[in-house]
Amino acid sequence: MTNTNALTKTNTVLKLAIQKSGRLHEDSMRLLKECGIDISNGVNKLKAEALNFPLELYFLRDDDIPQYVEDGVADIGFVGENVVAEKQKNILTQAPLGFGKCRLSLAIPRNQEYAGPQDLAGKKIATSYPVIVAHFLRQNKVEAEIHEISGSVEIAPGIGLADVICDLVSSGSTLFMNGLKEVQPILQSQAVLVKNKNLTAQHEALLERLLFRIQSVQKAKNNKYILLNAPNDQLEKIIGLLPGMKSPTVLPLAQEGWSSVHSVLKENEFWDIIEQLKAAGAQGILVVPIEKMIL
Ligand code: ATP
Ligand code: ZN
Repeated sequence: MTNTNALTKTNTVLKLAIQKSGRLHEDSMRLLKECGIDISNGVNKLKAEALNFPLELYFLRDDDIPQYVEDGVADIGFVGENVVAEKQKNILTQAPLGFGKCRLSLAIPRNQEYAGPQDLAGKKIATSYPVIVAHFLRQNKVEAEIHEISGSVEIAPGIGLADVICDLVSSGSTLFMNGLKEVQPILQSQAVLVKNKNLTAQHEALLERLLFRIQSVQKAKNNKYILLNAPNDQLEKIIGLLPGMKSPTVLPLAQEGWSSVHSVLKENEFWDIIEQLKAAGAQGILVVPIEKMIL
């Protein structure tokens, strides 16, 4: 049955834990897809395999992901920084993933005042994040009572269970609907890639390949490809406005005295630069999304 070839050939598979369902699930699946990784639609709801990358997916509750990664049941995981900070497991955070952005904040009934952490003294704080809240209280040298509850934290003040809550916020609409106001952000969070501390060299090599793809996808998202026509007498000024990857590509147009300029722009500097380009005489400006960016 066995021959040396079969023994030396490694069938290393990277085991990735992602949220089974909830706020991080769709974005985690989308990121893998953007990395060119196709996932089988197996009937098994706990596990799935990638068809074209040595990757196996485990679908778990987000709260359990740090523990599974620490234990090595999964090699890596996609999970919120808030969960990583709360669970305090012996794992490494490798890279931000750019989705699942939110903040963990303190909120109080809307008709009350908050001047600073000292106002929390002696108060009852309801939260699903007792570790992070305790750390915040210690840092600010305030004594308060932490009341751990696992869900629907925002109703706690209304039913007399607590004076203050500490919960995840993105838009603030849930707080508003419950008569609360956000008074103190204590942690900014997004989804991150975490890894086990003792990965084998083969697993590390696979992770490198995955990270390379993730970074290419992220760079592409943060950048736009721009094409424009420039009168040659304004070329120098227009090129000066474009940061570019190295330097912009300049091609002569069929029309005498004009050139076509191609470059890459950061998403966030985009509108500013477009206005300056127009003012400098650029015409026919096209801005197109980049699918992958390999630098
Ligand atoms: P699970 O069943 O996996 O335990 P859950 O109910 O704990 O799910 P979700 O509400 O799906 O978790 O949130 C998962 C993660 O999404 C959070 O831990 C956080 O990192 C992120 N997140 C982003 N925005 C928000 C938000 N507005 N409210 C809650 N979580 C958010
Ligand atoms: Zn959870």
